[in-house]
Amino acid sequence: MKPFLSFAVLLLLLSSMLSCSGQPKTKINHMDSVTNQSQQGGGTNNYIKTDAEWKKILSPELYYIARQKGTERPFTSKFENFHEVGTYYCAVCGNPLFRSDTKFDSGCGWPSFYEPISKTSVIYLPDNSYGMKRTEVECGRCKSHLGHVFEDGPPPTGLRYCINGVVLDFKKAQEAEKKYNANH
Ligand SMILES: [Zn+2]
Repeated sequence: MKPFLSFAVLLLLLSSMLSCSGQPKTKINHMDSVTNQSQQGGGTNNYIKTDAEWKKILSPELYYIARQKGTERPFTSKFENFHEVGTYYCAVCGNPLFRSDTKFDSGCGWPSFYEPISKTSVIYLPDNSYGMKRTEVECGRCKSHLGHVFEDGPPPTGLRYCINGVVLDFKKAQEAEKKYNANH
């Protein structure tokens, strides 16, 4: 009846097939994250707050790390030597960040992962503070400071996400599953 419509459907199918074809893993790309950031802007966003608002909502410790880009003392996080199976969320906004099966013992003093849950879980920003060239990692949703990423991690990514335990919330796999089933 409407050949145009079927053509559009075909196009849609084609484009979704293409996007599923999976890109090879790439190294950290700053330009990528800048575009991500601008795409996510706009609309109502509960995660954009003034500094004063964050200070009111968050615990002093969380505010210092997440919003003032602080760093917790090494070897102080309860997640540093922690091997439970589950998911790590942003302690500020609840955004899922890392899965326990991508966590590894780096010995650097902070919880370390080799891969975030998805491409949009975190964003990357160049950080040239303290005379070092580093890449800062922020929550993809609330833009809270999480830590840094270095290119000396294990396979398959070769990356080491060095994350402050203070900004992580952990949920055991079984609990998360229960919650999922209750909502579906
Ligand atoms: Zn967040």
